[in-house]
Formats: sequence, structure tokens, C-alpha cells
Amino acid sequence: MIIGVVKEPDKEDRVSLLSDEVKKLTTQDIQVWVEKGAGEKAFCLDDAYKKAGAILKTRKELLINADILISIHRIELPKDLKSKVLIGIYQPLYDVSQIENLAIDGHVVFSMDMLPRTTRAQSMDVLSSQSNVAGYGAFILAASNYPRYVPMLMTAAGSIKPATLLVLGAGVAGLQAIATGHRLGAVVQAFDTRPAVKEEVESLGAKFIEVEGAQDASKAKGYAVEQTEAFKEKQKAKIASCIQKADIVITTAQIFGSKAPILVTKEMIETMEPGSVIVDLAASTGGNTALTKDATKIITPTNQVTIIGDSNIPSKFPYDSSKLYGRNITNFLKLITTDKGDLNLDFSDELVSGTCITKDGKIVNERVSKLLEVTV
Ligand code: NAD
Repeated sequence: MIIGVVKEPDKEDRVSLLSDEVKKLTTQDIQVWVEKGAGEKAFCLDDAYKKAGAILKTRKELLINADILISIHRIELPKDLKSKVLIGIYQPLYDVSQIENLAIDGHVVFSMDMLPRTTRAQSMDVLSSQSNVAGYGAFILAASNYPRYVPMLMTAAGSIKPATLLVLGAGVAGLQAIATGHRLGAVVQAFDTRPAVKEEVESLGAKFIEVEGAQDASKAKGYAVEQTEAFKEKQKAKIASCIQKADIVITTAQIFGSKAPILVTKEMIETMEPGSVIVDLAASTGGNTALTKDATKIITPTNQVTIIGDSNIPSKFPYDSSKLYGRNITNFLKLITTDKGDLNLDFSDELVSGTCITKDGKIVNERVSKLLEVTV
């Protein structure tokens, strides 16, 4: 069996497998073909892949001959290829347009963002591993755009007060932003609609902002659920009072598969102190602030608040995020290959079937087919 690792688009610095992961696969009876230069921006050079047992190829050779194609972003494939197994983040709930064509062309697509979030799936959970990097990176980005000191400083010339960090959404990314901000000396507060995260927030040294009356999310398989209008109003008032006092705000609120909720209005931003910074991690699905624009840094003309929308922070830490992504993928590969390195697609395994979005010429995920109004 041949596994192909393709080079990511220009905007991306990560690669789907680093040489260490390639080595694990080549010691099984698997050939790994890597597109020339695929790992360069993640500091994994062609020579390292060669030493790990990979064979360097052109993109065309890979697309024609590989049985499994691994990537981070969706790959565009020519029409006349034999059917392939594709593994990557295809984001079918946000961009369904190309999925139907992949199904028609007979490809079996495993979209890693659809992996069920169960305990057994944790070692394969690419959303968690990349959100972890994003949460860390969000605070680093915020601190480097914040024109003041983050920790408290006491000197003979006087003291400097610590920065106040407000994190909205305390899931994987939010918790890592809290931990990073706390480690660098910020005073941290966090809000989430899931009261269950209070303990985790507090264990990281932050204060949990409580709003009564959240919907029970315990049956939502690890995801947040939609809240009532009354709750949203209470939440808005609470956030407004906290934003006013915050120096740095990191927003990560999201319900999987939906547009990001607007939690921070233009009016709230107008109450912030000049020099304050907001980093919005939910920028790719519209953002959590009314002013967010993806891949853009805005400075408000009235009170000089910086708002950064950046939907690809893991790419700024390409080595580590590639390493984690690659581990997730090799763990997933164990589910769909035998010890001898042959393909073994067992759709009775809920992780295999839950992650698969197309097979046998059809879309096989109900949420995706509903989006396309196609009957499964
Ligand atoms: P997650 O599901 O673990 O966390 C999201 C959190 O938001 C949950 O705890 C949820 O309860 C909370 N939430 C939902 N609605 C809310 C609301 N109205 N008010 C307050 N909290 C609310 O997701 P994650 O993996 O931490 O990712 C968070 C966001 O970051 C997502 O939008 C994801 O796409 C994005 N992300 C961005 C980057 C980047 O580079 N910018 C990288 C990875 C993830």
C-alpha cells in the first residue's frame, strides 16, 4: 500500500506527517511517498523524509499512484483518477460544495473534523490538538500586540498592574489561552455556557464568570448547545461589564457546525481602554465580535482597540502543530489498516464510520447530506 503526503497550499506552513511519523509507517509494510518540499515550511526537509524511509515524488505521481492521500486542507483531484482514500480536514459542515464531487468520483473521504469526540478517539482528535496550539498562539499574538506589560511589575520607580485577560469560550482553545495567560502573569477571567467547565477554569488559576440558566449540554457529545434568548440577554449584560475592564480578550466560542455567535458588540468594544487587544479565534465562521474580519488586524479609530481575526494560528507554529496532527493521523491509520499495512475499512467501528463522509459513490454522513438536501 502506498500512502501519499501532499504539500499543503501556499497559505499553510504545516505538513500532515513529519518524518518521525513516516518512519513509524515505513517500518510496517507501508510505502510512504512524500511530495517534494512538502515539509520545508514546517522545518522537515526532504532529506529527513528520505532518512525516515520515504520516497520523494512529484504531486502528479502521488495523486496517480497513492492508495491513501493524507493532507490537512482539502485536495483538489483530477477527474479521471482511480478511487482513493482521502484523509484530511474537509470541513463538510462549513464548505459542502466539493464533497458531492468527491463522492461521485468514488473517493472514500475521512474528514478528521467529523471524528466522534469519544474517549477512544482522543489520540486522533485533530480539532483538539490544533485548538490547543491555537489557544497558546492566541495569547502570544495578543501579548505581542498589547502595548503594555502583561505581568505585575514592582520596581523602585513604581509598580505596573498586571493585564486582565478575558476568555470567552473555555473549550480546548480557551483553556489553553487561559493557561498561557496565567503563566505569563495576566489576571484571568473566563466565561462559557457550559457550567461543567467551571472546575477546569478554576484549576488553571482563572475566575469563572457565572451566568445562571444555561441549557444542559451533557448529552451533546462534548459540544456546546444552542442557548435560550433569555440566557443570551443575561450573558450579554455580564460580558459587557467584564469587557469594559479587560485589557486582552480572547474569543473562542463556537457550536460545532454552526456560525460563531456574536458575543462582543461594537458598543462593547467602544467601552474598552485604548491599547486593548482582542484575538478572535472563531474568525473563520464569522467571528465572535461584530467587527472581526478573518486574516485581518483592525484598529478601531475611536478608541484604538486592536481586533485580530486569524483562523490559522496553528500554521504559525508549524513544527509542533504538524507533529501533533501527524500523531493523530497515524493513530487513525491504525484503525483502517492491518498490522501488515493493508487497507482494512471496518465501518462497524463508530470512529471509522463517524469520520467517513463519502463512500460507494455516495455521501454517507447524515448532517452533510442534509446540507446538500440529498437523501442518504
Ligand atoms: P470547543 O468546542 O472545544 O470550545 C468551544 C467552547 O465555546 C465550548 O466550551 C463551548 O461551550 C463554548 N461556547 C459555545 N457557545 C458559546 C457562547 N455563546 N458563549 C460562551 N461560550 C460558548 O472548540 P475549540 O476546539 O476550543 O475551538 C474553539 C474555536 O476556535 C472554534 O471556533 C474553532 O474553529 C477555532 N479554532 C481556531 C483556530 C485558529 O487558528 N484561529 C484553530 C483551531 C480552532
